[in-house]
Amino acid sequence: MTYKIQRNDKCPCGSGIKYKNCCYKDIEKNAEISRAALLATSHEELISMLLRPSSVYRLKVRFVSMRHQKVIDEVSRTIDVEGKYTLYDLHMEIQNEFGWDNDHMFSFYFGGKLFDRENEYSATPRGEHKPSMIGAPSKSAVTAQIRDLNLSENASFLYLFDYADELVHEITVEKIYDKTSETGELPCVVETKGSVPNQYDDFE
Ligand SMILES: [Zn+2]
Repeated sequence: MTYKIQRNDKCPCGSGIKYKNCCYKDIEKNAEISRAALLATSHEELISMLLRPSSVYRLKVRFVSMRHQKVIDEVSRTIDVEGKYTLYDLHMEIQNEFGWDNDHMFSFYFGGKLFDRENEYSATPRGEHKPSMIGAPSKSAVTAQIRDLNLSENASFLYLFDYADELVHEITVEKIYDKTSETGELPCVVETKGSVPNQYDDFE
């Protein structure tokens, strides 16, 4: 059973005013509410989901290979993201930081192997969930939040962008910490190593 928030409902942020006059007008807050609403089965559950404290995940994203060519010198970006971000949000952040064109489907794999459909979360560049290969089921990267994936420190998982050129990245959880008022703006790149090759140039 799914729950659908109505514009005339009280805003789930707790302001006491109608949703349509409150967070509905704020693109970011509304996106967060819409994502949570996909998973909630009632207005109360939606409110409690939005109130959950957020942890910050420091993720080291290391570029491993492209078109089956190994990346020799380290190319990595270490990024702090909020646990409430979805895998689709993480995909968009990686696209930005590596300068990829967000023009192909992608998958995250949590079983240590590429193309392992049992442990796959995928989506299209525009954030639609479709089977990653013809007829093959996968979970949705659009609704899966990072904090719900049972990740602990030192855990790692794979990010595959473009099923033809196979840009492979290994992501390691460096640390998980509580978000406080001291925490700066997120997402945030905390370390940059190596320069990223062009997505379409010949890769030596
Ligand atoms: Zn509100």
